[in-house]
Amino acid sequence: MSRVAYVNGLYVPHADAAVHVEDRGYQFADGVYEVCEVRGGRMVDERRHMERLQRSLRELRIAMPMPPAALGVVLREAIRRNRVREGIVYIQVTRGVARRDHYFPSPDTLPSIVVTARATDQAKAAASVESGAAVITVPDNRWDRVDIKTVGLLPNVLAKQAAKEAGAREAWFVRDGVVTEGGSTNAWIVTQAGAIVTRPAESGILRGITRTVLFEVANRLGLTVEERGFTLDEALAAREAFISSASNVVVPIVSIDGKTVGDGKPGPVARSLRDSFYDVAEFARK
Ligand code: PLP
Repeated sequence: MSRVAYVNGLYVPHADAAVHVEDRGYQFADGVYEVCEVRGGRMVDERRHMERLQRSLRELRIAMPMPPAALGVVLREAIRRNRVREGIVYIQVTRGVARRDHYFPSPDTLPSIVVTARATDQAKAAASVESGAAVITVPDNRWDRVDIKTVGLLPNVLAKQAAKEAGAREAWFVRDGVVTEGGSTNAWIVTQAGAIVTRPAESGILRGITRTVLFEVANRLGLTVEERGFTLDEALAAREAFISSASNVVVPIVSIDGKTVGDGKPGPVARSLRDSFYDVAEFARK
């Protein structure tokens, strides 16, 4: 089946989907994105992802390319046309096309919007949950507005490539000895006392939608959550560690920089959070 992408008002064959060379996303990374999980053909936590998209756009003073309800229709149509049951839908909005100049283009410049949807490999995801994954650590050299989900992801690209070359799944950014987050995930540990710890999201990390939902899941399971930074030493002494994101929910971490976490196997807390996630997450209508 051939894939279809939505580009600025048109559904086009994925192979031909393109934006202009002077799109500001291409030239300046002047744009934002969202990734929303699709499960059983329905978006997971659409409302929260759309709210975060609008916040990211506001922070960068980029206009919403269309009203939220119309965007909802496009997302559903992209999922439907690509026959995605288990997968992701990707939305990218940039400041639009204009002659290359750092200043914002004239106010009548339309933002560009691209939506794609694709199935994800469920067997591969299940295998990494069963075996657990490795992380490496890298210095957090990113700008201080990582709370905005911009397409400017070069430090994340380099960090994740370093992880891959080291045989690891993810790279954890470390700033002043404290783990901030992963290249495309939020970072968590479970202390020996059984508390779940993750860094506050006021600044310095992306406020993950999965992270937000997991707070509620933990609450329902009667688990203690501490929203504070944790050091690398604390992570190495933890009972469990895990990462969270919309595309993989919860993945247990069994080693950090080649050193074993806990007993080197996925732990029960990560498993129970993952198992209960969809009881709390909101499923959008089809
Ligand atoms: N942190 C970063 C840097 C990310 O890129 C992502 C997801 O892409 C996350 C955290 C997790 O966010 P969410 O749970 O909304 O997918």
